[in-house]
Amino acid sequence: MNSINCRIVETVGNEVKSLKEGDMVIPTFLGECKECENCISGKSNLCKTYPLRITGLMPDNTSRMSCRGQRLYHPFSCATWSEYTVIDVNYLVKVDPSINPAYASFISCGFSTGYGAAWKEARVESGSSVAVFGLGAVGLGAISGAKMLGASKIIGIDINDIKREKGEAFGMTHFINPNDSDKSPSTLVKELSDGLGVDYSFECTGVGPLLTASVEATKEGSGKAITLGVGTEPYVSFGALPILFGRNLKGSIFGGLKSISDLPIIAHKCIKQEFPLEELFTHEVQLTDIEEAFEILKQPNCVKVVIKI
Ligand SMILES: [Zn+2]
Repeated sequence: MNSINCRIVETVGNEVKSLKEGDMVIPTFLGECKECENCISGKSNLCKTYPLRITGLMPDNTSRMSCRGQRLYHPFSCATWSEYTVIDVNYLVKVDPSINPAYASFISCGFSTGYGAAWKEARVESGSSVAVFGLGAVGLGAISGAKMLGASKIIGIDINDIKREKGEAFGMTHFINPNDSDKSPSTLVKELSDGLGVDYSFECTGVGPLLTASVEATKEGSGKAITLGVGTEPYVSFGALPILFGRNLKGSIFGGLKSISDLPIIAHKCIKQEFPLEELFTHEVQLTDIEEAFEILKQPNCVKVVIKI
């Protein structure tokens, strides 16, 4: 289920020049001003002018929505589980109206985060080896990005066997179900990569122990692990030795993607059907049945639930 989706502009404020009524847009939780330190340096996608907002309020610290006199919030600047919403124009990306709205919602977050992590954070090279922990939409995006960049070995790891065919649809070459073995996930990855480990790994689950496993699964001296998963624990224990032996660990929000510069490129690839986004579309419910969507998410065959409005 994506909390962020695809919208049609109903009306714009007086000072909004970049969008007009009827435009199709993807709301984002991260803006891009192209003027702040991070936007200019290119070292990070975390724009300082239009940051990831966790207050649930607009930039002027107000909410534009209420229900029976009670304030409603704008989660992550988007608040899209509603028929209508008010969004700061700096958190919107205009897309070609020919895009499939369901697929546009898949690339608003999730899939794009994984894709961007391979593209922008790891900068996967042709012929390299990759391991992806967790084959939800983020992990499948990482597989897709690694394939697009020419990785020759892409190992997917998931405890759900149904994810094998999903991974293969996006370019996975090997699959590991850790429950089928007494060995550790990192050992299993090394066995598939000449005992050395992979060049790049992506942790897409947020499961604490897999943070160490994803680092351990990479090559001594040069391996790079990107962590994308959001877990429930603010602190996790971490094995220090794998890092000491020259591996790298990098955290990433939105896979390092810049909303204005990079998201339209992925949207264009989506329109050109350069990746099989239909594989993510496993369920659909009406907005009124959103509670049901949360239950569907627990099913092993669920990747994405589309909320139809
Ligand atoms: Zn900026």
